[in-house]
Amino acid sequence: RLYNEIQDLKGNIRVYCRIRPFLPGQSRKLTTIEYIGENGELVVMNPIKNGKDNRRLFKFNKVFSPVATQEEVFLDTQPLIRSVLDGYNVCIFAYGQTGSGKTYTMSGPSVVSQEDWGVNYRALNDLFQIAQSRKSSIIYEVAVQMVEIYNEQLHVFLTVYTFYNNTCVFFDLHTLGIWSTAQPNGLAVPEASMHSVNTTADVLELMSIGLTNRAVGATALNERSSRSHSILTVHVRGTDSETNAILRGSLHLIDLAGSERVDRSEATGDRLREAQHINKSLSALGDVIFALAQKNLHVPYRNSKLTQVLQSSLGGQAKTLMFVQLNPDVDSFSETISTLKFAERVS
Ligand code: ADP
Ligand code: MG
Repeated sequence: RLYNEIQDLKGNIRVYCRIRPFLPGQSRKLTTIEYIGENGELVVMNPIKNGKDNRRLFKFNKVFSPVATQEEVFLDTQPLIRSVLDGYNVCIFAYGQTGSGKTYTMSGPSVVSQEDWGVNYRALNDLFQIAQSRKSSIIYEVAVQMVEIYNEQLHVFLTVYTFYNNTCVFFDLHTLGIWSTAQPNGLAVPEASMHSVNTTADVLELMSIGLTNRAVGATALNERSSRSHSILTVHVRGTDSETNAILRGSLHLIDLAGSERVDRSEATGDRLREAQHINKSLSALGDVIFALAQKNLHVPYRNSKLTQVLQSSLGGQAKTLMFVQLNPDVDSFSETISTLKFAERVS
């Protein structure tokens, strides 16, 4: 294998914590973050509530402080992403309450400046560059797809076909068996969403088309995006030109719906239904990752659309990374604790 560093990383599930900074105008707020250790320790506390129970220690594979840059975060994610070219399936999630920085980590605040790029743009850029420059007999083909799960329903926004080594490769996702309608989760690809790409810039443009598609029909994109799971999938197929052996890898980058508890007494109708779907799918995800971490024989994939869609990419040889996102504000203390408890269970 080219990327040996992967083998140095223990286990197939790892959890990184990232704390977003206070936003402009928020500077005089109290923080719940008391201590960030070099080895992934995090101490949170409630500065307004005194007593011995107001302080808790959590342990992660890594904690990123509010000043960590997008580049620093990516450097610790890159080996995992590159293992896709060796045939691994990788899932990277961002979990946390709305406003905690999930989208910032996964996509970034804007596409305009490369410095701002989140994990997804950097990952695509990296995969494209490596796939084209690797001096091996393997020829890589890459397909990209954007989907959203909203109220337990799957919506496909974008499918991309790629060109490589001056050959146009029309990626047939059905023949590849990846999104075949014969699969139990019944994923189908609408023709209207097919595109071809050969550079990262093309992908970026298409992703913005995907986002526009997504916005159509939704009242407010931000509102909706905090209540749906968005999944960017990169499928890679490598063909060894000497032996004709084929390897397949996939990368799923998942910006999860906001994990905040919705007050039952306040939410009604659509809002309540959304909240119930979100709770159900996030706890189903927690159950699946927990079962995998425990090496249980039974993994309950069937309990939500999200875990069904990701079934073949969670477990087995697959690698999972969860970004646990925190808002440092004291007003978020109870959400922070519930986010950290979720993380504690899956790590
Ligand atoms: P979420 O997707 O979890 O709802 P966002 O990613 O939209 O949260 O972040 C909420 C706000 O905080 C946005 O204005 C975003 O630009 C800002 N933000 C989040 N993380 C960071 C960070 N690490 N550095 C600077 N600003 C951040
Ligand atoms: Mg978001």
